[in-house]
Amino acid sequence: MFEGTVVEASDPVNARLRQLPAVERLVDAAGRARELPRWTLLAAARSVLEQARRALRDESAPDGLDLESLAARAAKLAERLDRPFPRRVLNATGVVLHTNLGRAPLADQAAARVAEAAASYSDLELDLETGARGSRIAQVAELLCLLSGAEAAIVVNNTAAAVLLAVDSLAAGREVVLSRGELVEIGGSFRVPEIMESSRARLREVGTTNRTHLADYENAIGPETGMLLKVHPSNFQMSGFTASVPLAELSALGRAHGIPVLEDRGSGSLMDLRPFGLPEPAAWEGLREGADAVLFSGDKLLGGPQAGIVLGRREPVERMRRSPLARALRVDKMTLAALDWTLRTLLDGSAIERIPVLRMLLAPQAEILERAEQLAAALERRGGSGVSVVTETSVVGGGSLPDFELPGAVVRLEPKGSAAELATRLRSQDPPVLVRVQRDVVLLDPRTLDASEIEELARVLTRLV
Ligand SMILES: *Cc1c(COP(=O)(O)O)cnc(C)c1O
Repeated sequence: MFEGTVVEASDPVNARLRQLPAVERLVDAAGRARELPRWTLLAAARSVLEQARRALRDESAPDGLDLESLAARAAKLAERLDRPFPRRVLNATGVVLHTNLGRAPLADQAAARVAEAAASYSDLELDLETGARGSRIAQVAELLCLLSGAEAAIVVNNTAAAVLLAVDSLAAGREVVLSRGELVEIGGSFRVPEIMESSRARLREVGTTNRTHLADYENAIGPETGMLLKVHPSNFQMSGFTASVPLAELSALGRAHGIPVLEDRGSGSLMDLRPFGLPEPAAWEGLREGADAVLFSGDKLLGGPQAGIVLGRREPVERMRRSPLARALRVDKMTLAALDWTLRTLLDGSAIERIPVLRMLLAPQAEILERAEQLAAALERRGGSGVSVVTETSVVGGGSLPDFELPGAVVRLEPKGSAAELATRLRSQDPPVLVRVQRDVVLLDPRTLDASEIEELARVLTRLV
């Protein structure tokens, strides 16, 4: 009785459900336009049919349940399934540390070490001398200490993980004092207050958005205080009526009260980049200023793999290392292989030439100009028009050195149609191309392209323009 009622009520729906094509028919129709692996077509056809059935049952059925529309949707999905992820793209934005484009590209040698570590057994957690169990991070920690002069170091999955581990293991059940001017959100939804909520520590905000004084921290200190934290406002700058407390003063305050002081630098370098013209001291400056530990990313200015690096005094770092969370946030062998290469390249003094991020950031304007001219010439050889070379600056990106501009040069393209539309079409090429759009023109910045990519970009562009 009950079943009969249901069938009756949904009869028109059932009729339309029966009209949907069979999976095999949809596979054939979807595969007609382009040759695609059968598994992608089959998966896509099943998924599109399931969506259609759900829509019909909910009576929210949109138009386009005919074979042709369903096949078009399935073909699109199958094409997407057929593409490996992540896909290599040509970065013509000039933004060296582009969070959406995977931040730091590794050197070929670093990538080779990653491939080797990935494809073979290794002594990852074995002491080859004694045959006993070893520590996976001992060697990189040693290299980090050698480079920085820090007493101790650890590495975890990323800086967000390092902040979580630090506040949880050093200030569990107590308060982490942080200026309201440093309650920041970093790209990719890293929000300091949310990290704090995921830990056993509590956030204690002090000061105001624009001004925080030493007395604000001082007044907040009490028996509940577990840490004083300073967070670098990586991706914005405040100007006007502002005040913040320098790390050295905050460190002195922490020391006087026996409270650990930590600095989340976000971006960190293991060389002083100021002699090379970048306003970035080495990350260990934070320790010199008295912090108990500094935290920064492996794949920003360091130019290595994604990682969260902690340098600091032995005692707090040891407490972080012993936390069960450290196990959950640990790095894998591929990360360690790339980081080991990066650190040893810094130690042997060849980092400026061999680490791609540093090479791109420190490329002289004359070199960028020359590459821009090569690109323009390659475009003109292929019949491109409306092309010119102009000097222009680029930004570092990735929450590093906000407001700092690198002198360079770009190729300026004046498209016949809209620049935004050309940028969209460029993203759908193979390989996809990312550009800068400035009002009605497209700018191609060769800072982030290597020599072989210049030719490749010219090829993709002339196919299109
Ligand atoms: C970038 C950044 C982070 C996040 O680093 P991830 O390595 O991406 O987790 C955290 N804090 C600051 C200040 C940053 O700039």
